This record gives sequence, structure tokens and C-alpha cells, in this order.
Amino acid sequence: QVHGQGGFKFQNWAKTYGSSPELYFQPTSVEEIREILDMARQRDKRVKVVGGGHSPSDIACTDDFMIQMGKMNRVLKVDKEKQQVTVEGGIFLSDLNVELSKHGLALANLGAVSEVAAAGVIGTGTHNTGIKHGILPTQVVALTLLTASGEILECSESINADIFQAARLHLGCLGVVLTVTFQCVPQFHLHEVAFPSTLTEVLDHLNDHLQRSQYFRFLWFPHSENVSVIYQDPTNKPPSSSASWWWDYAVGYYLLEFLLWISTFVPSLVCWINRFFFWLLFSSRVENIAISYKIFNYECRFKQHVQDWAIPIEKTKEALLELKAALENNPKMVAHYPVEVRFARGDDIWLSPCFQRDSCYMNIIMYRDGQPPWALCLLQAHSCTRKDLEKMYPAFRKFCSVREKLDPTGMFLNTYLEKVFY
Ligand SMILES: Cc1cc2nc3c(=O)[nH]c(=O)nc-3n(C[C@H](O)[C@H](O)[C@H](O)COP(=O)(O)OP(=O)(O)OC[C@H]3O[C@@H](n4cnc5c(N)ncnc54)[C@H](O)[C@@H]3O)c2cc1C
Repeated sequence: QVHGQGGFKFQNWAKTYGSSPELYFQPTSVEEIREILDMARQRDKRVKVVGGGHSPSDIACTDDFMIQMGKMNRVLKVDKEKQQVTVEGGIFLSDLNVELSKHGLALANLGAVSEVAAAGVIGTGTHNTGIKHGILPTQVVALTLLTASGEILECSESINADIFQAARLHLGCLGVVLTVTFQCVPQFHLHEVAFPSTLTEVLDHLNDHLQRSQYFRFLWFPHSENVSVIYQDPTNKPPSSSASWWWDYAVGYYLLEFLLWISTFVPSLVCWINRFFFWLLFSSRVENIAISYKIFNYECRFKQHVQDWAIPIEKTKEALLELKAALENNPKMVAHYPVEVRFARGDDIWLSPCFQRDSCYMNIIMYRDGQPPWALCLLQAHSCTRKDLEKMYPAFRKFCSVREKLDPTGMFLNTYLEKVFY
């Protein structure tokens, strides 16, 4: 009885990838999802489940059946004693943040945006920063999965433990994530301090910075030594903000967009733009205090191509200096600011880039409408094959065997995932 819409065009947030699913569904119940899977099985179709569609790659694209989980977005249970919340997989973190704060709770860490779904953020291993904090899926203590055969599996450290370690970073290929239970913390405010520094200073004193602030990250401005250091720490002080429409939007967005557009004709301008904007917006100390999620989240504004690489934390200095040298040695290669550098604690999630190691994430961007040559590599999400991934992810084979068991016909695969698994 479930109705699928034809002619729907899917695009990810950055409009860098899209697809035309044959049928697009927005189910409101588990029974409806089961019907869609039955129909897919009968017609030999593949199924892709999407949340907020924020993934910068084509991981969420399909030409067959697409299930958008936006109508399965309820908070099912708040356990105040254990400080845990159980939600339907389609709930956006932006709604969850507000719900949690009504109960005096919060998520201990969040990525830059909250217009993403609970099941979506654990689909790709979303992370923020802080050496004492894991990637977002480490906050998940249980989940339920509807598999290709229509079976519902409860998963946690004690039930279906193997499937749990796979499903906490599932790539959307194990089944439909129906519910997610998060371990929360008491609600808190964050004090953010941003101040200027240099790449040499930050890399030489990386450990000090990591210890000094719970959520330390930094922005490097390519073609220069300039760095903006950002400390975020819990505080009891009252909220205050120094945000300004003029600086944030008129200058930080419209003027920058205009200059980047000009730089598409004169790429050498990018170096100048990076230095100019550092001087204009990041060369003095700025402070903000607000409820945690308002500080964790920040406006990403520009549609952009993104590559976010995780490396062992002890390689941070070497990797960044190599990146800097590569730019210096290739004057024709120009890079947009910022290269955002974040950190995460090691974990035991099979496909986590932090599996059994603390990691540094280097996030390299290219504004979509300004295309300097260096970023041509960004136009492709990545070119790694299964062989490469097996080397990078020690538990990759374990993940594959769980996937093959749960989805033997590949119902939840798409073109992107085929490249990953075959
Ligand atoms: C502006 C912006 C800022 C960002 N900031 C960060 C950041 O700070 N840190 C970071 O790590 N990432 C960041 N990202 C990336 C983003 O957090 C991830 O791509 C995340 O997965 C997006 O969640 P989503 O709900 O949009 O997932 P989607 O893109 O919709 O889907 C992601 C994967 O999850 C699967 N999926 C979704 N829902 C389900 C379900 N119910 N059942 C089964 N599979 C499902 C999909 O099939 C797909 O494989 C950012 C992206 C943007 C556009």
C-alpha cells in the first residue's frame, strides 16, 4: 500500500552529486519500510536510505528505490537516570539537540552541522574534534536494524555485538537503521576562544594545545603560515556573542564569494585572498559563549567539494608540512582556505578511521564555484579500491563478512559502495 513517488531528483547538500531514483519513498512506519523492501526484492531493485543528504560524496545516490527517513523522526525514550535517549533513525540532530535540552541533556560532541539524521551521522562516521572525544558513533550504545530479509535486529555491546561494531559506522549498506540510542551528558555551555597563531607554533606545541582545550581544532590558511586556533571548553559563564552580520555574511561570505569568483580567471589571486581574509577576520582574538550545540555547529555557507583524511595523530606535523611544501613547490597549485585540522580519540568501531588509534583529520575544501587546479582531485570523492581499504582499515574484512551475511544479494549497494566492496 505504500506509495512511491516517480520523477524525484535527489541532490546532496553541496549539489556536487545527484541521482534520479525510480521511486522515492517517505515511510512513516516500520511496516511501510518492510513493504518497500518486499517490493524491491520482487522487482530486483536496490534500495538506498537517506537522512539529511549532507554527504559530500555519491554515497547516498541511487537510480532504484530511495527511502528518505524524514518522517521517522520521533524521540522514543529518554532515560534520565542513564542519561540515554532512543530516537528513530530519521530524526535530525537539530531537533534532537532541542529535545535533549528540555531534559537537561546534550550530546557530548557534534559535527559542524545538525541538519543531519541520527542514522546518517553514524553512516559515515561523522566526527568533530577533541582528543578526549571519539567520533560521533562512539556515543551510540544501541541500535536496531531492519535487514534485507525483513528481520529486525537489536544490537549493542551485549546483543549481536559483532553487528553492533559494524553498524556503528554502517555506510548505509547493512540495512535500514530504525532506531539509535545515544549516551548523553548533562547539558552544558561552551566558551569558544579563537586566536591567531602560526603553523610552526601549533605543530611544535601540538600536545600542549590538545591538553589545554577539550575541543581544540585549528584552521590553516594555505600559502601562508597563518593559523586560527580555536579552543572550546565547558563553562558556567552566561551566554555572550560577538557574532556580527556585517563581518560574518557581508564580508565573510558575499565579498569572499565575489573574490573567489574573480580568482577562477586569475588563480594566483587565491594566495592573496587567503592572506587578506586571515588579516580581516581571523587576526584578532574572538570569544563566544553559548549552549554546546550552538558552538559546535557553525555556518558552512559555501557549497563546496570536500575531502577529509584521517591520519595517525603522530603524523600530523609531517603531513601538514608535506602539504605546505607541495604547494610551495608547485606555484600553479592554489588552495582555498581553510584546511581544518581536528582530532579524535581511538575507538573499536570496525570502519572507524580512529580504529585502535588516535587520529588527526585534515579537511581540505574547494568552494564549488571557484575551481583552482589543486582541487581537481577533490572532484572525485576518493579513488580507493577494496585493496587499499583493506590496508587502511584493519577490520575491513570483518565488516565485509557481516555485510555479506546481512545483505547477500547487495540490496543496499549502489555505485559508490560497489567501488568500496568489489
Ligand atoms: C555543511 C556540512 C558540514 C559537515 N560537517 C561535518 C563535520 O563537521 N564532521 C564530519 O565528520 N562530517 C561533516 N559533514 C558530513 C556529514 O556529517 C556526513 O556526511 C553525514 O553522514 C551526513 O548525515 P546525513 O543524515 O545527511 O546522511 P546522508 O548523506 O543522507 O547519508 C549518509 C549515509 O548514511 C546512510 N543512511 C542514512 N540514513 C540511514 C538509515 N536510516 N538507515 C541506513 N542507512 C542510512 C545513507 O545511505 C548513506 O550511506 C558535513 C557535511 C556538510 C554538507
